[in-house]
Amino acid sequence: MNIILLGAPGAGKGTQATRIEENYNLKHISTGDIFRHHMRQQTEVGMLARSYIKKGQLVPDEVTLRIVEIALKDAGMKDFMLDGFPRNINQAEALDKIVGIDKVIDISVDFDVLTERICGRRNCLECGYTTHVSQLKGGVCPKCGGEMQQRMDDKEETVKSRLTVYSEQTAPLIEYYKSQGKLFTVDGMGTPDEVFGEVRKVLG
Ligand SMILES: [Zn+2]
Repeated sequence: MNIILLGAPGAGKGTQATRIEENYNLKHISTGDIFRHHMRQQTEVGMLARSYIKKGQLVPDEVTLRIVEIALKDAGMKDFMLDGFPRNINQAEALDKIVGIDKVIDISVDFDVLTERICGRRNCLECGYTTHVSQLKGGVCPKCGGEMQQRMDDKEETVKSRLTVYSEQTAPLIEYYKSQGKLFTVDGMGTPDEVFGEVRKVLG
């Protein structure tokens, strides 16, 4: 079984990917991880990717595709879960020429709820404890008394623009896989257990 996992930042995709990998024995291919691996190992394609990133440019689709293709071959071209790829129709069409995809799982979340959830996060500067602002009394860490702060990435403007970029990128992909009859939308608003229960219904 070959699957693709889609989900907005903060939708809990990482948690579900780990559970799917463990329960279904699918190799988790995260484009973020494999890019970092190739750049660390200074492979030819890793150096090429780095040259674009250094210039502040997007890595072209053909470079990303080469990296993904290497990872797919390493996985034996079967029983994998792609995470972070494809990001556009061009990549999706190229992927279809390389290998068959059985199911695409879209972990769907309400953007307003997600924004509230992410923007409400506070982290302790001393011990790293993280909680929602509604759980705090007086702005200090309940574990160590340290100062609780909001991460820059969690500011409302940043969160909203990341979600907008994500939905603009992903909407055409969702249509693409829907038209192929491969798209399964899972409600991502519950607890990790509840969401995984929905995933199980899709994967069987
Ligand atoms: Zn603390």
